[in-house]
Amino acid sequence: MIQMNETVGVLALQGAYQKHCDILSRLEVASRLIRRPNELSGCCALIIPGGESTTISLLIQEYGLYEAIRYFAENHAVLGVCAGLIMMATEVDDRRIKPLKLIPFRALRNHYGHQVHSSTSDIKLSFSASKYSAHFIRAPGVTKISQEVKVLASCNNEAVMINKGKHVAVSFHPELTNDMRIHQYWLHNCVYQPCDEPHDNNKGASD
Ligand code: GLN
Repeated sequence: MIQMNETVGVLALQGAYQKHCDILSRLEVASRLIRRPNELSGCCALIIPGGESTTISLLIQEYGLYEAIRYFAENHAVLGVCAGLIMMATEVDDRRIKPLKLIPFRALRNHYGHQVHSSTSDIKLSFSASKYSAHFIRAPGVTKISQEVKVLASCNNEAVMINKGKHVAVSFHPELTNDMRIHQYWLHNCVYQPCDEPHDNNKGASD
């Protein structure tokens, strides 16, 4: 069981944020819903949940959270899920989205199109021996991945879980299963580990 006395923030502007709080609670980790920049203070990390990335992007800007999250992410771990993964990219194929540029890659919205609005696939996680059943819901694609980004899981040869420094982004929904390995990995390897590389949030995916 994870022991900690710090709080993980869960961005609660739109989307599937409550289930992340439930998982954190099962792991005995305190969480706090984040809707205002000042609510980030005292948090040791942030989860950006799935939902609708166009809406989340708009609300991040409206609530004055864009610069606040970027600043927070310089020294704190961020986990982005589905729409949250899209928000963490340096480039997105939809101009309505202003990505936070936390991991250098390009996100493709609804990449798996109409055939695969929703599906479950067994994937191999680079950090775990047994297969993981991943739930994809209108999942984004991950392309133009910069060399310094680690791919932690793929599905049909496409990256679905990536990591750079303290940040992890997944295109599936780890909060929709009882299998807590994704949150546990991020907590153990990113949230509780000192950052061993400086972040350069301005670096583009195509640099
Ligand atoms: N397709 C959604 C988007 O582009 C993401 C879906 C999700 O988060 N489950 O924002």
